[in-house]
Amino acid sequence: MTEFKLDAAPKTVEPTIYELSSPGRIGVDFPAPDVPRTNLPDSLLRAELPLPELSEVDVIRHFVKLSTFNYSVDSGYYPLGSCTMKYNPKINEDTARLSGFANIHPMQPIETTQGALLLMYQLQEWLKEISGFDALTLQPAAGAHGEFVGVLMMRSYQEDRGETKRNKMLIPDSAHGTNPATSAMSGLKVVQIPSDERGNVDLDALRAEADDTLVGMMLTNPNTLGLFDENVEEICKIVHDAGGLMYGDGANMNAMLGITKMADLGFDVMHYNLHKTFSTPHGGGGPGSGPVGVTAELAPFLPAPIVDIVEEEADGIPPLYGFVDPSKTIGRVKAFHGHFGMFVRAFTYIAMHGPDGLRDISEHAVLNANYILARLRDTYHVPYDRICMHEFVAEGRWKDAPDVHALDIAKRLMDYGFHPPTNYFPLIVHEALMIEPTETENKDTLDSFIDAMISIAKEAHDEPDLLHDAPHPENTPFGRLDEVKAAKDLILCCWLPEDYENQ
Ligand SMILES: *Cc1c(COP(=O)(O)O)cnc(C)c1O
Repeated sequence: MTEFKLDAAPKTVEPTIYELSSPGRIGVDFPAPDVPRTNLPDSLLRAELPLPELSEVDVIRHFVKLSTFNYSVDSGYYPLGSCTMKYNPKINEDTARLSGFANIHPMQPIETTQGALLLMYQLQEWLKEISGFDALTLQPAAGAHGEFVGVLMMRSYQEDRGETKRNKMLIPDSAHGTNPATSAMSGLKVVQIPSDERGNVDLDALRAEADDTLVGMMLTNPNTLGLFDENVEEICKIVHDAGGLMYGDGANMNAMLGITKMADLGFDVMHYNLHKTFSTPHGGGGPGSGPVGVTAELAPFLPAPIVDIVEEEADGIPPLYGFVDPSKTIGRVKAFHGHFGMFVRAFTYIAMHGPDGLRDISEHAVLNANYILARLRDTYHVPYDRICMHEFVAEGRWKDAPDVHALDIAKRLMDYGFHPPTNYFPLIVHEALMIEPTETENKDTLDSFIDAMISIAKEAHDEPDLLHDAPHPENTPFGRLDEVKAAKDLILCCWLPEDYENQ
């Protein structure tokens, strides 16, 4: 039997639950058994079971304390660019927990799940309307999964019309890493297209690659520089003229709600990130959801099944909702019907805001980002400096402070109580700091963040070591960590097998 050595993990500022253990303390009281007692054979019993002994209050205090070490949207400002870390309204949680939604099973007969099916149908209709698409699947589990589904549909569409030599996907150099990854996973050749000096797709480079081997192009708009591509309609036309399809990465929809529709711009397929734009939790907070919308041409290829009306309303009897399989479906891409709890949250969010409210969201997100940009552009270099959408990218370096890097600025922001922005992405900006405020932050919060950024810029020149050592343990639960060691030598349990060192 493996011997466990307690407390072998590196010491942290907090004792582990094993160190808190005190012999004889009890936190549970088992009810009397309602079946006859029986004696288990010795072979099933362990003489030694090193479990910590603690009272209920010991356990609660330990874990509540640990939970306060986590930074979250509910505890502070979280300008993590590209991730759209939106506030998650608490009413979403109330509706997702309604027992009629939380306690149903996907194998139930459809006659008993009409409310859930109606909600999915209505959410499909709203998402289609928001971006102008004709059909939609709710199955994909996240944005990257939606991309994969979209690319598989593009490939199937090309094959279906006999265009079998098409194997190339064009992807701008400003793209999210998931775009080339999904194209490669779909068996396609990825060709990178450079950006021009205004941060748009370089049209000449695009024309040179737009040939009859094209499956299509994946474009994020607004792009990962936070810029609306000024030639987006021309880009779609070049790709379409070459027989390709346009994939829209819709992760940046937070800038566009109620303002413009991706299908109107010329996109054929797009994923939505419900966990970004429509306020469902993400990261450690919950599963994502990446619905994919398509034009009528691509609708037959959608994953099966799709929620639809299977019996029209008649004689005052409401319609019956059920499932249908598109005629040339690429198949199922997810167990059952996707992450239903996310659908309830996104539905609630859209229903609570209505069309005008959705537009307000995007207008405020764009206004907030431009406000920060306007106040920071004299202090930080912004390489593609024009009106931004819901986020922008600054450089985290100065020629006259050569030892300071974007990472140091990000770490120092933690001393000031802010979650750092995304850094080192997109790759086309040196030492990138990608700042996305979202719409719910008020001017006071934005101003304190901006003031912190300006102070840090001054410190970078006067006292750079303040940044190099940041964050400091008096401000955060831990000081500066060794990120390489943390990734390479990850220890997730607080006890280790005795012979760990030899493994
Ligand atoms: C977040 C993001 C993705 C991937 O979405 P996930 O839900 O994280 O898989 C793709 N593209 C862009 C531009 C993104 O910001």
